Amino acid sequence: MADCLFCKIAEGSIPSNKLYEDERCLAFYDIDPQAPVHFLVIPKAHIDGADVLTEENADIVAHIFTVIAKLAKELSLEKGYRVVTNVGEDGGQSVRHLHFHVLAKRSLAWPPG
Ligand code: 5GP
Ligand code: ZN
Repeated sequence: MADCLFCKIAEGSIPSNKLYEDERCLAFYDIDPQAPVHFLVIPKAHIDGADVLTEENADIVAHIFTVIAKLAKELSLEKGYRVVTNVGEDGGQSVRHLHFHVLAKRSLAWPPG
């Protein structure tokens, strides 16, 4: 998508602090971290958000969660972490390209508020 920030990060035309990349997804550190470890994992192919997942396009979500598990081991997040995907206006989604936040290395409140 021409005007999508995360598509531009995925194709490399906007730089990011990359943590992991494969043919289908990219993990990079959030520009405005909300925890000592805060990175995002995105599909390279544009999907608006979790609200438009279907049987046809949802395989990437399982793949992303396996990548998160691998990265969590590499980053020594054995105390735990939180995976969040914000959806739409009330959900606080500011970038309309599916992404999973991974937050760690501090105690995270529940409910999130
Ligand atoms: P959302 O609010 O849509 O759930 O999350 C979007 C996230 O993208 C925010 O946490 C925000 O800090 C991050 N973000 C926005 N623009 C950039 C950018 O240009 N680079 C990086 N690395 N993160 C960004
Ligand atoms: Zn996009």
